[in-house]
Amino acid sequence: MTEGMKCVKCGKTAKPSKLRFQGQPIEGWKCKCGESYFDPAQAQRILLLNMIKKEAFRVKIGKVRSNLIVRIPKKIADALELKNGEEVTLKVDGQEITIHTG
Ligand SMILES: [Zn+2]
Repeated sequence: MTEGMKCVKCGKTAKPSKLRFQGQPIEGWKCKCGESYFDPAQAQRILLLNMIKKEAFRVKIGKVRSNLIVRIPKKIADALELKNGEEVTLKVDGQEITIHTG
């Protein structure tokens, strides 16, 4: 994200810039003419996050050796960029379990 990119609107060079897309911070390029371009991979992730925001996912509890496991649906894993082996934090509040990433 260090190089400029050619603005398709005016032909000048759009400079790397921190922008906002659907209320989220995103990297991209901004041109002096006012046109801005979002990093496509980041934009797609934000769209995915907004899409699944209100969704409830029903998953089944499985078992590996003596531990119970919960599978994270691919949509969620993609949106949050979760990887195999990554650590997350579980919190329990009554009957509710929340998972914190990062
Ligand atoms: Zn321009």
